[in-house]
Amino acid sequence: MERGIFLQPASIKEKLVKEHLEKTIFRTVDSAEILRFQKELKTDLEKFNVWGVTPSRVPKSSWEKLQIGDLVAFYSQRKFYLLGQVVDKFHNKDLAKYLWGENEKGETWEYIYLIDPDSLISIDVNSEKVAKILNYKPNYNFMPARYHQNSELIALFTDKLLKEIEKSKDIITTVQREKIVATIGKYKRDPSFSIKVKQNYENKCAICGIPNEGAIVDAAHVKPVKDGGPDIEENGIALCKVHHHLFDAGLITIKNGKLTVSPTAHSDLRNHPLISEFENKNIKLKGTSEEFLKWHNENIFKG
Ligand SMILES: [Zn+2]
Repeated sequence: MERGIFLQPASIKEKLVKEHLEKTIFRTVDSAEILRFQKELKTDLEKFNVWGVTPSRVPKSSWEKLQIGDLVAFYSQRKFYLLGQVVDKFHNKDLAKYLWGENEKGETWEYIYLIDPDSLISIDVNSEKVAKILNYKPNYNFMPARYHQNSELIALFTDKLLKEIEKSKDIITTVQREKIVATIGKYKRDPSFSIKVKQNYENKCAICGIPNEGAIVDAAHVKPVKDGGPDIEENGIALCKVHHHLFDAGLITIKNGKLTVSPTAHSDLRNHPLISEFENKNIKLKGTSEEFLKWHNENIFKG
C-alpha cells in the first residue's frame, strides 16, 4: 500500500478555520464523544485531533482515496504549517454539526478525518517547493483539498524535513527535534495494525483466551518493529500483557503450532498456571504467518 498525503487548505486568516483549529486541532476530542455519533472506529486510540471538509471544498475522488495511515498537511499563506497522520476517516454530518455547527450556507464539515494527536507537529514547508513537485504554478493556492500519492512529495514532508531539522540544530531545541524525529518515525507505521490483529483473534489472548477487558490484550509484533518487522496482520498476534511480555523476552514461543517454553525459564515460571496449563497445548493461529513465527523461534526464543 503506497502512502498518500492529503493537502488541506486551512487559512489561519479565516475566522471559521481559526475556530475549528481551536476546537479540534489545538484541543483533542475523546473517542467516547465521537462514538456518540459514529458506530465504530478503526483505531483503538482514546483521543484525536479532528478535521472536516464541506462537500464543496473537497473533490469526491480525492476524499475517497484518503486511507488510514496517510499524512495530512495543513496549508495557509504560502506555507504548510501542520503535519499529522490520519487514523480514521468517515462521512458523518451529525458529528460535524455537533463539533463545528454549520456555515452561513447551511453546509457542515461532514467529510471528517481523525488525526493521531501524538503524530501532529508544526512544520514550515514553503508551498513553492510543493507546487514545483506537483507541476503547479509557484503561487498555487492549494484549493480545494486534494489527495496525492507521490513519493517525492512524501519525502519532502518526511525525510527532507528531517534533514532540515538536523541542519537547523542551533535554532531548534533538542526536545522539539526529538519530537519531530519520533513523529516522522511514527508516520511509517500502520495505525490500524492493532485493531486488525485483535479482531482476527476476537479480542482474546491467543494463548490463555482472556478477553480484552481493561485493555489487557495487546496486538504483539511477532518480529519486532526494531528488527524490521512490518505492521501487517501476518506479523501480529493478540496476546495478554503477561504472555506478550514473556513472548518478547524469548521465554515462550509457538513452535509446530504448540506453546513452547524456553529451557532457560525458571521452574517457578514453568510451574505457574499461566504457563503450565498451556505448555505443549495447540495454539490456534488466526492470520499470523508461520514465517514470522519461525523468525521468532530462531532469533528471539531462548531455545
Ligand atoms: Zn494470555
